[in-house]
Amino acid sequence: MREILHVQGGQCGNQIGSKFWEVICDEHGVDPMGRYQGDGSSDLQLERINVYYNEAYGGRYVPRAVLMDLEPGTMDSITSGPYGQIFRPDNFIFGQSGAGNNWAKGHYTERAELIDSALDVVRKEAENCDCLQGFQVCQSLGGGTGSGMGTLLISKIREEYPDRMMMTFSVFPSPKVSDTVVEPYNATLSVHQLVETADECMVLDNEALYDICFRTLKLTTPSFGDLNHLISAAMSGVTCCLRFPGQLTSDLRKLAVNLIPFPRLHFFMDAKNMMCAADPRHDRYLTASAMFRGKMTKEVDEQMTNVQNKNSSYFVEWIPNNVKSSVCDIPPKGLKMSSTFVGNSTSIHEMFRRVSEQFTAMFRRKAFLHWYTGEGMDEMEFTEAESNMNDLVAEYQQYQDATVEDEGEYEKEGLEENYES
Ligand code: GDP
Repeated sequence: MREILHVQGGQCGNQIGSKFWEVICDEHGVDPMGRYQGDGSSDLQLERINVYYNEAYGGRYVPRAVLMDLEPGTMDSITSGPYGQIFRPDNFIFGQSGAGNNWAKGHYTERAELIDSALDVVRKEAENCDCLQGFQVCQSLGGGTGSGMGTLLISKIREEYPDRMMMTFSVFPSPKVSDTVVEPYNATLSVHQLVETADECMVLDNEALYDICFRTLKLTTPSFGDLNHLISAAMSGVTCCLRFPGQLTSDLRKLAVNLIPFPRLHFFMDAKNMMCAADPRHDRYLTASAMFRGKMTKEVDEQMTNVQNKNSSYFVEWIPNNVKSSVCDIPPKGLKMSSTFVGNSTSIHEMFRRVSEQFTAMFRRKAFLHWYTGEGMDEMEFTEAESNMNDLVAEYQQYQDATVEDEGEYEKEGLEENYES
């Protein structure tokens, strides 16, 4: 069995993480007490259940999940919520101080003991695995805990488990749904880390999620619950091929191999501008992956080829067969069929640029910097984070403009990057 270890941190990370568990418990027929109450398709529901769950005494299924926060509030609501009893009580790691939306507190000052306790739990879970394939981390990048402490934990895990995959579900901040003005600082400092320490990042952008709720779903005042409903559907879709049998893209590494032509460019978004405020029609897909769920006819491959032929200008021509599709028989609860589209599109630079402009506007005048330097951070780290993000934007643009004629040149650069990493 190739297990995945799930980690959720901070308010947002814990909220989207627990929603994820509710959804997949439902799909696998696991009730809030961890008992299997399947619908008769037990083979399909249980065959790969060990990817995400441990089997405890008495046949209970327990999420392989670590929950951490610097304050107790969100965890209290999880434990008193409908699925509060399903998690292993020892896997709740929390403090009392809070990170006050300050990345420096989460990454450097407030986290000292907690990070060790979190790592202990991670180690214990990892030791119980038959053959751990990797980790998935739920976090927001705009706050202090999920972003600051989250990226610290990711880099520590990376140090200890360098050959395991690291996937993140990272929520990017938007002024439309914002708590504080310093969120662009926190997000940029986090991206600076994730470029190096994560293998694959599923970008969930509050700006886009808000727009879907407001414009498409006509919700006048979208709540976090509304945004998280969309997020949990995407998380269920993305992980479907890892959780159910008979899939082509059946583990985190295969997903990465197909989607990541260059190691730094591992930030993925959804097709129709759905979960990330960037428009793929402005740019091109390096790679993409379409996951279909439900009873499909055999036409999926044919239709996918048609779509690609019709839209060929939106896919770089120097990666042949850059769209992969997979089909999973089991639809999400309440639907006959669904699909999830994960794209590695160069247009994502629009979102990075949005955050980077907000960052630079404040950083130019050193506004709010004292909150960070007061925690012992050096201004240099801000300068480095800013330029790393700008480099990322430039790299996406470079490949967006690349054509077959440049192929030799870019191939060489790509290889060099690969060797470097
Ligand atoms: P932390 O507890 O210190 O990690 O801070 P938060 O997770 O509250 O981070 C604040 C950022 O996360 C802001 O950009 C919020 O808009 C966003 N956020 C907080 N809770 C949620 C949530 O439940 N869903 C979504 N989509 N975003 C959230």
